[in-house]
Amino acid sequence: MPTDDKTKGELYAGLVFLVRGSFPKRCSNCGTVFETAQEFLAKTASLQTGSGLRGTLDDEERSIVEIYRNCVCGSTMMEPCRDRRDTSEEGLSRRERFGDILKILTDKGVAFDVGRGELLKVMRGEESALIKDLLK
Ligand SMILES: [Zn+2]
Repeated sequence: MPTDDKTKGELYAGLVFLVRGSFPKRCSNCGTVFETAQEFLAKTASLQTGSGLRGTLDDEERSIVEIYRNCVCGSTMMEPCRDRRDTSEEGLSRRERFGDILKILTDKGVAFDVGRGELLKVMRGEESALIKDLLK
């Protein structure tokens, strides 16, 4: 079952929120500005290989998920998203958002435990074939 664009946008926006993306974002090559995660998703293309998400550690050993997308100009853009692991209000809203994304997955027929495991995988920067499939 193909994922409709609205669901894809919500799913992607949720993932970006979870991994702490920042918008607006500007392509350093052609200058195109992406105001929101949805716009970023709509106007860029996924990479030919991999999910376009990669986990790494920054210089302070905090986890980062890097999101790679190809801009309209063909240049690959990378969005580094730091996980500050805070317990503030924002930390709480992240957990709520996690639930929202999980609901999108279960609405697509993904079992709750499976969806949860796949989301945690992405947050750790691992490949999720299932989520990559939904974002096609
Ligand atoms: Zn560009």
